[in-house]
Amino acid sequence: MDGRKKDLDIKKGELDVITSETEKEEQDLQKKADKSEPQIEERLLVAYKRLRKNAVNGLAVVTIDRDSCSGCFNQIPPQRQLDIRQRKKIIVCEHCGRILVDEALTQEVAEAI
Ligand SMILES: [Zn+2]
Repeated sequence: MDGRKKDLDIKKGELDVITSETEKEEQDLQKKADKSEPQIEERLLVAYKRLRKNAVNGLAVVTIDRDSCSGCFNQIPPQRQLDIRQRKKIIVCEHCGRILVDEALTQEVAEAI
């Protein structure tokens, strides 16, 4: 019993560290989001926020993963995938309405911020 309690205390300590790290990361990301918002068209921002609120996993922007939407896992037709990769306009998943982007774009954005 004592051993178990000690284990639990250690695990709790580890969890506290992880929680505080995650909190800091979340605050940093929120700051970046607040700074970016004024540069985004109002109409798009409203659509984005509505998506985030309604999406089961909270993700409004998702990538193509194995020819499918990584939000709802429905298949994306090849022509649509091509349109997404061309990045000429915003394309949403016809099943869940999430905004679709290609994998390379998420990497470019991650490197830019
Ligand atoms: Zn989808």
